Amino acid sequence: MEKGMISLDQWSETSQAYFLSHFHADHTKGLSSKWNKGLIYCSPITAKLFPVKFPGFRVSLIRVLEVGSLHSIPLVSPSTGSQTIIQVTTIDAHHCPGAVMYLFRGEFGCVLFTGDFRWERTSERALMGKSMLLNALGGEKVDFLHLDNTYCNPSYSFPRREVIARQIVKIIASHPEHDVIIAINTLGKEDLLLHIASALNTKIWVWPERLQIMHVLGFFDVFTTNTSLTRIRAVPFYSFSVDTLEGLNTIRPTIGIMPSGLPWVVRPDSGNDPSRSSSLLVSYDISNCNTKGNHPQSEELSCVRKFHKYIYTLPYSDHSCFNEILEFVKLVQPLNIKGIVSSSSCCIDPRYHFRDLHGQDECNEPSIKKFQQQSEKFQQETLNTSPEKFVTKSSKGSHKIHTQLRTERSLRRKSGYLGLLMSRVSILRRRKRGVKILEVDIVD
Ligand SMILES: [Zn+2]
Repeated sequence: MEKGMISLDQWSETSQAYFLSHFHADHTKGLSSKWNKGLIYCSPITAKLFPVKFPGFRVSLIRVLEVGSLHSIPLVSPSTGSQTIIQVTTIDAHHCPGAVMYLFRGEFGCVLFTGDFRWERTSERALMGKSMLLNALGGEKVDFLHLDNTYCNPSYSFPRREVIARQIVKIIASHPEHDVIIAINTLGKEDLLLHIASALNTKIWVWPERLQIMHVLGFFDVFTTNTSLTRIRAVPFYSFSVDTLEGLNTIRPTIGIMPSGLPWVVRPDSGNDPSRSSSLLVSYDISNCNTKGNHPQSEELSCVRKFHKYIYTLPYSDHSCFNEILEFVKLVQPLNIKGIVSSSSCCIDPRYHFRDLHGQDECNEPSIKKFQQQSEKFQQETLNTSPEKFVTKSSKGSHKIHTQLRTERSLRRKSGYLGLLMSRVSILRRRKRGVKILEVDIVD
């Protein structure tokens, strides 16, 4: 596709049409209430969120694309000046409210932009999304895939979100005298909160801006800003920390729940408190969380980690895990592939993993098998390398830094044969997590 025709979640360049996949902050950098560069195409739900996210936004610049429908958009070729038509189909990305993928067709071929997406295998909505994509493709292969590679690493394997939601309900129910805080973003995890509210027959507190968003999404009865009505509060990621939980526990017994695919690590300057000395790089038990085979019973086994005496972390992820990404790539068989995430703590160039799955007319089955064998070997090696093995008894901060770096180096060595090289920046990003997460650092 020629430069200057369309922009996908990019707002700094000049284009004829702009497409927004969903309303998470890392996809709207450069977009503001004062936007006047051109038309923005998005899903109906994303369009409804504009007035909340960007008060005063010129709604005349928004074009709504119904999900699952084919739309034709006339553009002008920057090189020839002649008119050209691009066809675009929006597909449910199963990520957060309003999130869609875009499938483009035109003189440039077939381009699929996933935005952020979760490719669960068995839920009803996942099957609908799959059917939507297959219908849109109509048997064609994708020439260029822009892929959500947030967890494109064999060490990530998440159960379905409804499995984790049930585990979270059990945790809350087993703490009847505790207040509960759950970390969420400004958009997303609504299904989880609704499940908790329904299972425990309770309202859930959210902060005022979040209540406004809930009302836009049509949830009027479950959420409240009145703290006296419920013991369960959904709080912003940036206010969820070890310090917050410890502070709350000086007032009332409180547990914190972090539903995220991100592994957590403790910042090295966490003092002499042994409860903070864990160094977690891969915080989930991969053997129990493995989604391969979709055995409900094995999925029910615990993926819960008690990260801190007051904090539970669970891999409730709105992004696809590695095996789901693999399945997706095998389905669309792209000729070219590029990751859309370049700053994630887990960022791996998907071309490494899927180099045998694209660039050819036919899918290379022997290469896929070889790749899967490598993935399984990697997972086994990771399992045998419990992070706790590297934690020293020392309570001195400097030793903790040393310990953590040893763990990271060891994991880098183990992943080396697969070429999974984590940058120093990634390591530093990982280390930041666990005390306080800034919004700009969150993988949405
Ligand atoms: Zn997102």
